[in-house]
Amino acid sequence: MREHEVIIIGGGPGGLTAGMYSARAELDTLLLEKLMPGGQIANTELVEDYPGFESITGQELAQKMEKHARKFGLKIEFDSANKIKLDGKFKIIQGDNDTYRTKAVIVATGGQPRLLGVPGEKEFAGHGVSYCAICDGAFFKGEVIAVVGGGDAAVEEGMFLTKYGTRVYIIHRRDQLRAQKIIQKRAFANAKVEFIWDSAVTRVIGQDKIESIDIKNLKTNQVQNLKVGALFPFIGFVPNSDIFDFEVKKDAGGYIITNENMQTNVAGLYAIGDVRKQLCKQVTNAVGDGTTAAVAADKYLETWND
Ligand code: NAP
Repeated sequence: MREHEVIIIGGGPGGLTAGMYSARAELDTLLLEKLMPGGQIANTELVEDYPGFESITGQELAQKMEKHARKFGLKIEFDSANKIKLDGKFKIIQGDNDTYRTKAVIVATGGQPRLLGVPGEKEFAGHGVSYCAICDGAFFKGEVIAVVGGGDAAVEEGMFLTKYGTRVYIIHRRDQLRAQKIIQKRAFANAKVEFIWDSAVTRVIGQDKIESIDIKNLKTNQVQNLKVGALFPFIGFVPNSDIFDFEVKKDAGGYIITNENMQTNVAGLYAIGDVRKQLCKQVTNAVGDGTTAAVAADKYLETWND
């Protein structure tokens, strides 16, 4: 069993920032990351709302954050943390590759895209249904593309997809967008974007790959079939908060509830970024959360007595 003073689970901006502060405070800090550091920004084309960087690719920002954290001594290992258990005041993390014992855990596990849950969605995932415009958009050059959702992600990614698609339909279940006004304004001005209001995708149809979708108008109940080469649902997010072997307070959506110091209902257990219940999910929020959690964990460890 491996021992560290602080273990951070998840290497997105929140986790990397927590790691930077914790390592800089000279705590023996390990960050566990499943795939590659950067989290969701690693799949974001351009970040233009991170102060000090008017426009930077998500990958470059992620790499800078990782390098910065490592400079102060953060150790990063590739392992998937599957379960967290309590052993008195200690926390035990069961990974795929190893077991870890630590005094403080900072959970920065983020979340994943919510699925539409309609027939054909799973069957055509990877064959026209995608949840990452940056990863897959280029496959659909010259196609008609459908996006579902009315939040920042749907509208921003919809606009990004106009690089490739001949037309991008954004299908939303209401007649008003949830996306920020500045993002809405850009989308309304984009001639390649067309909105389909008050509507839901009810079926994904095709042979080897997607060929069309059924769209139901929720006001009239009329169903129309739309020929598309790709479907990108961006309808929100399911937090990765299902790793505890003990009671951790969460809201109805599964988001972990913390106090202002990022502490959960369990001493020495912190949650930051998108897995935590808070008003918005921005890189800046995650970074602030990571700072607070690292400082709070440091203070917690100062009071630790075996
Ligand atoms: P979101 O803000 O929660 O929006 C989800 C959208 O999907 C909403 O419009 C919602 O409709 C719709 N929806 C939810 N469930 C649905 C279902 N089952 N069927 C059809 N539509 C459904 O999620 P998001 O856009 O992924 O954004 C998540 C967070 O990331 C937000 O805090 C956002 O600000 C942030 N984000 C920011 C940026 C940026 O600032 N550049 C970019 C991407 C994401 P209703 O509106 O009717 O509820």
